[in-house]
Amino acid sequence: MVEFCPKCGSLLVPQKSSDSKTVLVCRKCGFKKTTDTGNKYMLSQNIKHVEQDKILIIENTEAARTLPKVKGHVICPKCGNDEAYYWILQTRRSDEPPTRFYRCTKCNHVWREYE
Ligand SMILES: [Zn+2]
Ligand SMILES: [Zn+2]
Repeated sequence: MVEFCPKCGSLLVPQKSSDSKTVLVCRKCGFKKTTDTGNKYMLSQNIKHVEQDKILIIENTEAARTLPKVKGHVICPKCGNDEAYYWILQTRRSDEPPTRFYRCTKCNHVWREYE
């Protein structure tokens, strides 16, 4: 997968950093990007076994802070709030529909949508 520098548009070159993580480096302006894809792959692998852990991991990721919000047609089972962040995950075999998770904007309770 090829990625480009968000600052100057140059090609980002993968390099090993000191703690053996791969970082993408822009040779033109020096921009550095830590690759977090390994983390995401881990999530999808763990998901079948430790679903609860995965939910907690997702809560802590950068992405969780920019999750889309839904208001009005969800109700938090804990506090009754009708506004929640949501994300969708393929939790089971790929021929089954993905599961939707919600996180209450008020009490941070996380729950999943059951079919
Ligand atoms: Zn650059
Ligand atoms: Zn709540």
